[in-house]
Amino acid sequence: MSAINQHPSRIDRAGDLRTNQNTLDQLWNQARILQISEGRIAATGTQLAYISAADAAQLIATGRFSEGSRYFLGLDIESRTPFFAWDTQWVKTLSDEEKSEGFSTVREIGAQLSEQELELSLHAIALSNWHSAHPRCPRCGGATKVDLGGAARLCETDQSQHHPRTDSAVIVLVKDRSDRILLGHQPVWPEGRFSTFAGFLEPGETFEQCVSREIFEESAVTVSEIKYLGSQPWPFPASIMISFEAVTDNPEDARGDGQEITEVKWFSRAELLAAAKDKSLLLPPSISVARKMIERWLGESAPGGETWR
Ligand SMILES: [Zn+2]
Repeated sequence: MSAINQHPSRIDRAGDLRTNQNTLDQLWNQARILQISEGRIAATGTQLAYISAADAAQLIATGRFSEGSRYFLGLDIESRTPFFAWDTQWVKTLSDEEKSEGFSTVREIGAQLSEQELELSLHAIALSNWHSAHPRCPRCGGATKVDLGGAARLCETDQSQHHPRTDSAVIVLVKDRSDRILLGHQPVWPEGRFSTFAGFLEPGETFEQCVSREIFEESAVTVSEIKYLGSQPWPFPASIMISFEAVTDNPEDARGDGQEITEVKWFSRAELLAAAKDKSLLLPPSISVARKMIERWLGESAPGGETWR
C-alpha cells in the first residue's frame, strides 16, 4: 500500500535566487502573489486568489492593507512562474466576519486545494507565522527584518541571521495483531471524534523513542515494529507531523491517560466504516495526516469529518 504524501514537490524553491534583492524585485513584478492577512489566505470559495504586483500596489494605495512583507516561495517547476506570499495586515480593526470576506484559513480550504496550491499555502502560512512571532533577535533583543526573500531574518543590531524553526511531532497509527487500529478521544474535541495518537519530539530523543513514549503515556500500550509512513507540514503554528505505524501485543491494556486522552477504542475495518456512516464516530478532517493514515489502513475513503471542529 502506498505511503503518505510521497508526491514530489511542484515548486522549485530556487534558494540561489534569494540572495540578490534586485533579482527578488524583478521576480516580484512577474509573480503570482498569495496575499496573507493575519493568518488568512486570499481565496475565492475553495480556490486560491492570486494577485499581481500591480494589484498589491493598488491594495496598499487604497489604505486597506499595510505595506506588508514579501516572501519568495519559488518557481513553478514547469512554467518557471515565480510565486510570492505577501504578508499584510488590515489597517482598520475588523470583525472576524469581515476578515473572512475573500480570505480563508488553510484548515478550511486545504483539503480542496491542488497539491501545488496546498504546498504554496503551507509554505506561506509557515513563513507568516514565524516572521510575526520573531520581531526581535534572540541573541541581543534588537529589531530584526526580513532577509533572503523571507527565508531568514536579520538582526539590525548585531547582524546575526535567524532561520525558521519547525517543531517535530510524531503521529502514530497503533495496530494489534488482528489488524485493528486504536484511536483516542481528546476532551477538547466534540463528542464522538477519535483520531490517531500524536506528540512532540523532546530534545535528545529519536522519533522511534518518541513514538514508544507517547503511545505508552497516552494509551498505556507498548509498541514495536515501528514503521515510517511519511510526513506532512502542519504550520499551525510551526509543526511537521512525522507519521508512523506501530504494533502492540497487549491491546487489552489500552486506556486513556485521563488528561490528554479520555477514551480509547479499537476498531476493525467494518466497525470503523459502520461507526463513521452512522456518525457515532467523527473522523479527523480530510486535510489531516491522521485521516490519510486511517484511510490508508482502511483501503478506501471513509465518510464524514470534512469540517474542522
Ligand atoms: Zn541581535
